[in-house]
Amino acid sequence: MNLMLFGAPGAGKGTQAKFLIEKYNIPQISTGDILRAAIADKTDMGMEAKKFMDEGKLVPDSTIIGIIKDRLAESDCKEGFILDGFPRTLPQAESLNELMSNMEISLDKVISLNVPDEFIVGRITGRRICSKCGASFHVEFNPSKEENVCDYCSGELITRKDDNAETVKSRLEAYHSQTAPLIDFYTKMNVFTELDGTKDVSEVTKDMINSLS
Ligand code: ADP
Ligand code: AMP
Repeated sequence: MNLMLFGAPGAGKGTQAKFLIEKYNIPQISTGDILRAAIADKTDMGMEAKKFMDEGKLVPDSTIIGIIKDRLAESDCKEGFILDGFPRTLPQAESLNELMSNMEISLDKVISLNVPDEFIVGRITGRRICSKCGASFHVEFNPSKEENVCDYCSGELITRKDDNAETVKSRLEAYHSQTAPLIDFYTKMNVFTELDGTKDVSEVTKDMINSLS
C-alpha cells in the first residue's frame, strides 16, 4: 500500500503515521525527519537545509527530490510506504509521479487531515518530539505516558527548534501558497480523501482506517 498523509504543518500527519506503520507494517517516510537527522549528523545537505527550516521556509525542491529518490529505492519500501510531509510543491508532486511510474508503482491514497489555521499554533507550540525516533506528542492534547519520555522507544522528548509562534506563521504561509494547490492535483488523480483533523487523535485514526478499508 502506497500512501500519502497530507495537511498543514501540525495537522497530525506524523501522529497518524505511527498507527499506519503498525497496521500495515510499512515505513513512514518523513522528509522533515530525514532533514533533522541530516542536521544532527552535520552533513553538508543538513547544514544547507537548516537555514530554510529555521526560517519556516521550504527546502529547495532539488534537495528534497534527491532525498526521496534515494529513500524509495531502499528495500523496506518494496511492500509500500507512508509519505509524510512530502510532496509540498507542484514540482515535487510531478517528480514523485515520474519516479513512481519508473518504479512501476502508483499511489493508492492521499489522506488529507483538514485542520484550520486557528488550531495550528497551539498544536505546534505544545508539540514535543522524540529525539531518537521522531514520534510526536503534545503536552496537553496527546501527552506521553511518562513526562518527557517517548512511549515508543523511551527516547528523550524535546521541542523542535522551528516549533515557535514566529515560524508557524511562515510555515502556514508556505503551506497555503505552495502546498495547498496539490489538493487539486491529487483530486484530479482520483486518490484524494479529506478527513476532519480537528477530532481527537483516536477519532482521526478510526476515520483514517475506515477510509482505507
Ligand atoms: P504534523 O506531522 O502534521 O506536522 P504532528 O503529528 O506532529 O503534525 O502533530 C502536531 C501536534 O499536534 C503534536 O503535538 C501532536 O501531538 C498534536 N496532535 C496530533 N493530532 C492531534 C489531534 N487530533 N488533536 C489534537 N492534537 C493533535
Ligand atoms: P516537517 O517536519 O514536515 O514539519 O518539516 C519541517 C521543515 O522541513 C519544513 O518547515 C521545511 O523547511 C522542511 N521540509 C520538510 N519536508 C519538506 C518538503 N517536502 N519540501 C520542502 N521542505 C520540506
